[in-house]
Amino acid sequence: MPRTAANPDSLHGLEPYKETKGEEYMNEKQQEHFRNLLLAWKAELMAEVDRTVSHMKDEAANFPDPADRASQEEEFSLELRTRDRERKLIKKIDATLELIDQDEYGFCEACGVEIGIRRLEARPTATLCVDCKTLAEIKEKQISG
Ligand SMILES: [Zn+2]
Repeated sequence: MPRTAANPDSLHGLEPYKETKGEEYMNEKQQEHFRNLLLAWKAELMAEVDRTVSHMKDEAANFPDPADRASQEEEFSLELRTRDRERKLIKKIDATLELIDQDEYGFCEACGVEIGIRRLEARPTATLCVDCKTLAEIKEKQISG
């Protein structure tokens, strides 16, 4: 097995799933694959959140000058927003893991078709198939524009 460390963004350090011919969609092996994928992604996000927190603690005491403090606060608020996004993503990952436990993972929640392994590997938290996703985006644009 080639190490994927050189390309860590692809599948969070995991190998892409290799289907055997004719195997059932979302069988136990596939569910296990996506569970591992989601857990690896979650671990990355949690490490990122931890890093942010300790970084902010380290720096909080270092700027007695008010001007320095202002730019530091700006930086912190940016980090807090990033952290907020990561927290939401972690929540979504947890909800997705629950779907796997309930055998409901991998199917479009709008039309019920198989979302597909490759699409799920690219977007493990996807709940819509490509068609429904595209449709939803078009509708969104019509509402907002
Ligand atoms: Zn669909």
